[in-house]
Amino acid sequence: MELKNLIEDVVSNTIEDIKKHHDFCTCQQCRLDISAIALNKIPPRYVVSSKGESYGRADLLAMQKDLDVLAIVLDAVKLVQKKPRH
Ligand SMILES: [Zn+2]
Repeated sequence: MELKNLIEDVVSNTIEDIKKHHDFCTCQQCRLDISAIALNKIPPRYVVSSKGESYGRADLLAMQKDLDVLAIVLDAVKLVQKKPRH
């Protein structure tokens, strides 16, 4: 079993979604920087899950909508692209 912050998956899915419509660097450094900024702004949602268990995309999409993750991640993308550390 492991402790998992579901918002990490939500943010990572959101980065993928944004990537489809916007051109920005998604090297590991930039991706992690974007995730860190976004995750610090969104309250975590911890669950206990068995290893490897993944949540349905529908659940993650519902959370994405609820928490306005898209706007927060977009802001993080803009911030990181202004001063990329890669
Ligand atoms: Zn980069």
